[in-house]
Amino acid sequence: MIQLPLSKLSNVGTTIFSQMTQLANENQAINLSQGFPDFMPDSELLNYVDDFIKKGFNQYAPLGGMIGLKEEIARKIENSHQAIYHPDAEITVTAGGTQAIFTAIAAFIKRDDEVIIFEPAYDCYEPTVELFGGIVKRFEMKAPHYEIDWNAVKGLISEKTKMIILNNPNNPSGKILTENDIRELIKIVKDTSILILSDEVYENIVFDGKQHLSICRYPELKERSLLVASFGKLFHVTGWKIGYCAAPKALTDEFRKVHQFNVFCVNTPIQLALAEYMKNDDHYNQLSSFFQKKRDFLRQGLASTSFELLDCEGTYFQALKYDKVSDKNDFDFASELTVTHKVASVPFSSFYKNKVNENVIRLCFAKKEETLEKAIENLTKI
Ligand code: GLN
Repeated sequence: MIQLPLSKLSNVGTTIFSQMTQLANENQAINLSQGFPDFMPDSELLNYVDDFIKKGFNQYAPLGGMIGLKEEIARKIENSHQAIYHPDAEITVTAGGTQAIFTAIAAFIKRDDEVIIFEPAYDCYEPTVELFGGIVKRFEMKAPHYEIDWNAVKGLISEKTKMIILNNPNNPSGKILTENDIRELIKIVKDTSILILSDEVYENIVFDGKQHLSICRYPELKERSLLVASFGKLFHVTGWKIGYCAAPKALTDEFRKVHQFNVFCVNTPIQLALAEYMKNDDHYNQLSSFFQKKRDFLRQGLASTSFELLDCEGTYFQALKYDKVSDKNDFDFASELTVTHKVASVPFSSFYKNKVNENVIRLCFAKKEETLEKAIENLTKI
């Protein structure tokens, strides 16, 4: 037997999303844990994919992506945020948001570089920074409002700070950044060379008429930012694993040095299909109202229960505080809910390095009405 090397990620197990989905399947529970839609994407989009495959577009794409798709992405960003990215030089199509995040971190983070993240944090940020020898500094946002104390964030900055990772709208809390947050961020990074990795995969899912403030709206931030987005969330195709990174040319050049050896390029027919489908802006402009109906359906259904529904300004996740229902910690409660009440969720503590337990779980409402109805029925009985 050979002596195996020490693990590079000794504290990392299988992601909570896979764990909870497996538990849901084993228990025939309604799966509101992992974030994915349980309904079909638009058949128009599916037909485009079918067409392009059959027409023979089945070989490598250019490493940065198909130009037609990059042009549509640039047009979408300009229309939504009045920000200009050069389609060929500044937009890279990636194999999903997670690959874009991995590649951005790999391209810039070296040993002992410090990276600031905000918890609850999506699970891939910290391990990826660690893989490249970086050191994570965390600011913990807390229930029920998950606000950022920018003075405390300022205290985390040192001469070693290389990057700040934002997730706006935030998975799992559903919070979005305000103008004031952005102003504070601008003050903090001014006169530094800190980069920003802005994970905005839920950018088109924002509720109650609120506006998503993308990092690219602010020239002082855009010049130092890598903006990450995902077609999985935009068009209900999480299994296609396709997204993009938009960043100024100098950052994109470095990003692509890694991207070319990480995946080289992303599958061709789906890029062509997305380019065609994106020509109609309605396909993404209606997303917020589409998901707001689902959010409101779930919230109304649970309004009479003892669960406390925390604010949900964006994303397709609803946070539930359950301290009037159970005194178990959130992991045990989420397990009990799956096994006994047949509804799978994700415990919030899994989004904190220190497993902060505030008795909050996350439910995904990107589901058919009948799925949500069954979940509401089970949760109402508790
Ligand atoms: N982004 C999805 C979520 O938050 C899941 C992604 C995954 O399973 N890795 O649930």
